[in-house]
Amino acid sequence: MARLIALRRARPDLLRCHWDDGLEVYLPVAVLRDRCPCALCQGEQVFDRYILPVRVVAPGMYELVALEPVGNYGLRAVWKDGHDTGIYPWELLRQLCETEGLQEEPPMGGTSAVETP
Ligand SMILES: [Zn+2]
Repeated sequence: MARLIALRRARPDLLRCHWDDGLEVYLPVAVLRDRCPCALCQGEQVFDRYILPVRVVAPGMYELVALEPVGNYGLRAVWKDGHDTGIYPWELLRQLCETEGLQEEPPMGGTSAVETP
């Protein structure tokens, strides 16, 4: 299991993740929020029924306020809309970096086509 050795905020919407096996990618914080592993966001299995989460786009929900270490388990994300129940195990962070991580820094705003000559 690779270990995360450096995590820094490349931009407000972008994290730079560096793993000890050499993987180094940009991870959009929106990916982190969309993949929040907490029961509220991912739904819950209650007896034989799967309760789907209610998805509401709240102001600030894609603004990351803090990432706090949780022992040796992973990181807890605190979002500007007050959501702080998502704890990301290292395995999940690694998986997100492998599947959603970007080699190049994406343009600001994602869809912006503004270019300076
Ligand atoms: Zn959540």
